Amino acid sequence: MTETKVQADTWDVIIIGGGPAGMCAAMYAGRGMLRALLIERGLPGGELLNTEKIEDYPGFESILGPELAKRMADHARKFGATFVTDTVDTVKKRDDGDFDIATQMGKAYRARAVIVTAGGTPNKLGVAGEKEYAGRGVSYCAVCDGAFFKQEVIAVIGGGDAAVEEADYLTRYASKVYIVHRRDTLRASGLLQERARTNPKIGFVWNKTVEEIAGEPSGVKRLKLTDTITGAASTLDVTGVFIFIGFTPNSGIIADHFEHDAEGYIITDTHMQTSVPGLFAAGDLRVQLTRQITTAVGDGTTAAIAVEKFLAERKEGAAVGA
Ligand code: NAP
Repeated sequence: MTETKVQADTWDVIIIGGGPAGMCAAMYAGRGMLRALLIERGLPGGELLNTEKIEDYPGFESILGPELAKRMADHARKFGATFVTDTVDTVKKRDDGDFDIATQMGKAYRARAVIVTAGGTPNKLGVAGEKEYAGRGVSYCAVCDGAFFKQEVIAVIGGGDAAVEEADYLTRYASKVYIVHRRDTLRASGLLQERARTNPKIGFVWNKTVEEIAGEPSGVKRLKLTDTITGAASTLDVTGVFIFIGFTPNSGIIADHFEHDAEGYIITDTHMQTSVPGLFAAGDLRVQLTRQITTAVGDGTTAAIAVEKFLAERKEGAAVGA
């Protein structure tokens, strides 16, 4: 489905991904009078759409994720950004310095610069039963599936911000939420930890890894666990398992060689430029200390302004060379 008819000519900048980084980059590209196309595979919003309430985004003590997503999309469109719904397959640099972008719907786009803000995909545990019970007790999205577990006992796997925040959210439905973590110290921020520790519906299962998600045809019934210190086996009776163990950056769409870390996160300079000139990256798929909405919009801002400068210098270079 295409929201706006796309012109066949070259775009100044194509932004891949419509999360906070991408929408903010689109807004700033528009402010810079660049012809910007944003390609997003789903609804604009990215992770905002998987989060019920956003807290402490500056200016908003609390705002619903989908509402913030809509405000960001409207704001980007106000400055002239064009949004299309499609999935990008590959981004490839041309000999003339432009980029070719191919999509799953068979479209070919061309851009003078590209900002990749494609985020990441939730990591899987890779244990028996995970695939089998997906949609029948195994989930990677609390906002999407939490309401199916009213008055049930469930588990959240992981010890980072996502696990602890979503465990707290899930207590509005479940009668008990066990956070199962492979260590005895959480990685989550102090504020989230404090909230979880004082929530009587949250229990902690420390030093345990999941060996298997077991159940019956109707769905999940229990977790088979191993103690990371003693090696002892145990079980935990739950009917739902929410897995929040980080995610893998969607950087595989870049066809050319680019610098990245061992996990595939893209390395950029302070202008958000990757090791491929003209190819910029912003948000969750970039190597950085933390991944907040505020850091994503900061990255998006920097990337769009850097693209403006890059294109101006490229134009000057071409004029001098002519
Ligand atoms: P994360 O910070 O990478 O945490 C992943 C957690 O999963 C860690 O506790 C890790 O354990 C555990 N884990 C990883 N692989 C595992 C495995 N195979 N089996 C069992 N446990 C495993 O990921 P995240 O929580 O998704 O957060 C990603 C980024 O988004 C972070 O930068 C985070 O700050 C940000 N974020 C922020 C908020 C917020 O501020 N409200 C909310 C969500 C996410 P170890 O600790 O032992 O490594």
